[in-house]
Amino acid sequence: DVTDTKGRDFEDFFLKRELLMGIFEKGFEKPSPIQEEAVPIILQNRNVLARAKNGTGKTAAYIIPCLEKTDTTLKTIQVLILIPTRELALQTSAIVKEIGKHMGVQCMVTTGGTSLKDDIMRLYNPVHIIVATPGRILDLASKKVADLSQCKTIIMDEADKLLSPEFQPVLEQIIGLCNEEHQICLFSATFPVTVKTFCQKFVHNPYSINLMDELTLRGITQFYAYVEERQKVHCLNTLFSKLEINQSIIFCNSVNRVELLAKKITELGYSCYYIHAKMQQANRNRVFHEFRNGATRHLVTSDLFTRGIDIQSVNVVINFDFPKNSETYLHRIGRSGRFGHLGLAVNLITHEDRHSLRRVEQELGTEIRAIPPLIDRSLY
Ligand code: ADP
Ligand code: MG
Repeated sequence: DVTDTKGRDFEDFFLKRELLMGIFEKGFEKPSPIQEEAVPIILQNRNVLARAKNGTGKTAAYIIPCLEKTDTTLKTIQVLILIPTRELALQTSAIVKEIGKHMGVQCMVTTGGTSLKDDIMRLYNPVHIIVATPGRILDLASKKVADLSQCKTIIMDEADKLLSPEFQPVLEQIIGLCNEEHQICLFSATFPVTVKTFCQKFVHNPYSINLMDELTLRGITQFYAYVEERQKVHCLNTLFSKLEINQSIIFCNSVNRVELLAKKITELGYSCYYIHAKMQQANRNRVFHEFRNGATRHLVTSDLFTRGIDIQSVNVVINFDFPKNSETYLHRIGRSGRFGHLGLAVNLITHEDRHSLRRVEQELGTEIRAIPPLIDRSLY
């Protein structure tokens, strides 16, 4: 949710007064989550990979620190904002001008499809921030009309689009014309492989921000079963017999409990592997590989398996133990329902877990309902 912030204010970034005025006049009252995260990091001159959903305020997340960094007593280009399309470049430069209107910052937009001569004329006067599509700025910079040698901040918005294979050599040349001591900040909703290879070469030690997690909740139906601790295995057995499980991942909160539960599940007559952080890496790899290949239906695990794992045939996630915080919850149940597949998450909730359950619901803005006697097969 765009409005779901840690409650920081724009004042907390210690920005120049003139900049704050521009922000407030634009009607922004509080930073959005991506702004909360990205503004301070960009101000620290770090490289940044920022991933957030569309419509969550990425533009201002880079414009605000760029404006703050700009030294208007200098006449040099200090910030380059690269944008894949002309229309978006225009829109972006308009926002720079709006938010920066009390600062005396000179912002210029330059794109293909407009008069090169006009741009050359414009560059006789000072420009601090340049918003550009790649072809045109390379043209201007290699003609030495635009001097990028003092430019230390490079922003790439819609970075994945910007880094499509045909653009990539152009971008590499542009970067080569900027100051050696530069930071690169990439903003996008998606970071495909093309972006990763570029980053390995050009974006060293980036600070990664990823606010895309909420997407993984989409398509996942969440239930809880209210049980006593000693009923948990029995409850699991019932779930196994009632649900149509393609593959399931079952989470416990400790390594010991992982091993114990895996043993019990096997005793119940189900095929089951377990994996946890205290196992040898070779063993872990083998289990992971075999589970992925469908060698067993169930995998019991600790939070080792919480993040990033992508096994599309997993349609059910069971929290045998309820996780300690909502972030872990999100990552755990995000193991099902990936890439538009549906999934089911079932949480075994004891009396002690009841508050955690509500907190997770609240913090994630999601709904976890009591498990019904019959679960519609079309849900997962
Ligand atoms: P994104 O690039 O992430 O898709 P935009 O930067 O285009 O999103 O912002 C989406 C909308 O949200 C814009 O209309 C913008 O003015 C507005 N917006 C951005 N930040 C804030 C804020 N802190 N408070 C209120 N509105 C905001
Ligand atoms: Mg955007």
